[in-house]
Amino acid sequence: MTTYNIPTGGLDWGGVGQTAAAMLADYLRIDTTNPPGREEAAAEWMRGILKEHGIESEIFLAAKERANLVARLPARKPGSKGAIVLNSHSDVVGTDEKDKWSVDPFGGIIQDGKVYGAGAIDCKSLGVMQLMSLLLLKEQGVETTRDVVLNIVADEENGGKFGAGWLTTEHWDKVAGEFTLGEGGFGFLLPNGAPLYSVTYAEKGTLWLRLRTRGPDGHGSMPRRGSAVDKLHEALGRVYGIPGEIFIGDQTVAHLGRIAEHVKWPYSFLLKRPRSWLMRRFLRKAVKKSPRMAALLTNTISVTNLRAGFKENAIPPEAAAVLDCRVHPNSSTADFLKQLHQALSGLEVEVEEILRFEPTVSPLDNGLFQSLSATLREECGARAVFPLLLPASTDMRFFRRRGVTCYGFQPLLMKLDELDAHDVDEHVAVDNLRVGVRNYYLTLRNFCAA
Ligand SMILES: [Zn+2]
Repeated sequence: MTTYNIPTGGLDWGGVGQTAAAMLADYLRIDTTNPPGREEAAAEWMRGILKEHGIESEIFLAAKERANLVARLPARKPGSKGAIVLNSHSDVVGTDEKDKWSVDPFGGIIQDGKVYGAGAIDCKSLGVMQLMSLLLLKEQGVETTRDVVLNIVADEENGGKFGAGWLTTEHWDKVAGEFTLGEGGFGFLLPNGAPLYSVTYAEKGTLWLRLRTRGPDGHGSMPRRGSAVDKLHEALGRVYGIPGEIFIGDQTVAHLGRIAEHVKWPYSFLLKRPRSWLMRRFLRKAVKKSPRMAALLTNTISVTNLRAGFKENAIPPEAAAVLDCRVHPNSSTADFLKQLHQALSGLEVEVEEILRFEPTVSPLDNGLFQSLSATLREECGARAVFPLLLPASTDMRFFRRRGVTCYGFQPLLMKLDELDAHDVDEHVAVDNLRVGVRNYYLTLRNFCAA
């Protein structure tokens, strides 16, 4: 196996970046498309690297080949401080657009200063930043005052049943900690070139629903009103008519206030007053125009699946639609469902819950958030660090539900158009990976040595 050089003395970040790029390329060559996942090969590969640097790890199989790796770097100066857990997933989402890629998505290709592959952003570069940071803590002999745990889990892209969901239930003693850092929160480059970092502290809830209607069947030449399709059509119309309330929580007010310090009037004025009548009017417009803004500020509903009929001339007796609903942390799943049922009242429609995760939130008034912000500003050139809602859900929800304070922290510097992960030609620039590893290591070192 490849030996990765981890410096024990002075840190040459250019060299560290090259090592990280080679490591990421190797990781991307292990096809962990989920389903079926087959994360065991990735876990074994990582166990080998850890072992070479004297860090013990265990692999837990949730099912055949569905491997979760847990490694622990014990505190050098043990005390009463809780562990910090670094969590990322090794599986990648399936690419049915393989033919559209300009390189092999599992080739681990480094070309023109970029590392290409399915999972380059989501989430293997994070795994590499975490692994490199752990190795650096060890090889640099940092006087850590708390344990650092590395989790490389399976199955995030498919709900976590064989990954974090399983691991936090079956092996909680191995992965429990005071804090967990996982995916979410990127850095952004402002148009003037200044870096801004986000740390995600909350995630929307996920609610998948199936609406099902029934009605008389018959021949297409003799239409009848009140068919299953008519009812479903009416139901979807009402669902789309649910007013999209804009949620502005206290943490959002604080966050917009921080951004306000970095923009010009009149934006600075507006961002400092996010609940004003004027700002609400502006936000309502923004939400209508931008799916990203809608995701950040409202509950959202997407129809992702429609099913009815089998023959051109037969009226089907049954129709169904799947709704992918995302619930804002300042709302609640119960409130959202109440609104939905109200909208559908009087209609013959069954509502079935397929999947339900509640929204989750972590506090911001703690040493980790302060330490992250300080390191990024003082040593990593960040103009500002701000907490952000993640408009999706990740494995962090499994840790938050056990009372752990969790942040999404992927300190690469992205342009906004680079953020759509799961894309054709997913890649990360070697320079950006170097920045990410440096940011991750320095924030971790400063927090763990304190
Ligand atoms: Zn992910």
